[in-house]
Amino acid sequence: MSNQRCLHDLLIGQCSHCMKPPWGINPIVYTTKGGDSFHNWSECNYLASGQDYAYSQGMNNHPINPIQWSAIQDSRSPCQWCCAIYLAGTDGMKKCKANLDGVWIDALFARAAYEGPKQKTNQVLDPKTGLVYFLANEEVKF
Ligand SMILES: [Zn+2]
Ligand SMILES: [Zn+2]
Repeated sequence: MSNQRCLHDLLIGQCSHCMKPPWGINPIVYTTKGGDSFHNWSECNYLASGQDYAYSQGMNNHPINPIQWSAIQDSRSPCQWCCAIYLAGTDGMKKCKANLDGVWIDALFARAAYEGPKQKTNQVLDPKTGLVYFLANEEVKF
């Protein structure tokens, strides 16, 4: 098994195309032409709200393209919002209580996004399931 080769004819573990993404990054990510970051989600708030470089330059007609993370990991940086959990890392996230459907659970807070006056979205991870939730201020306690 140790000399198995991938579809690029390289030894498993030595091929950058077949490299597994780190924790918190999806195998398929999203980019726009001219953008300087990649996104875990095609519907990332930062893409939509113009915080991606290409969008901030008014080039907002570019389609959002799915691509393998391993193919662009050297040329693009992770988005501050949809890659917040990866950027913070397990040690960088703040412990919190999160209200999921009326039940308070122990969760990890990754980042907050300001959606407008008095409106904030908190990105919270449930460490037991690995699922990410977007919660309002009153649904998160520190
Ligand atoms: Zn390969
Ligand atoms: Zn993003």
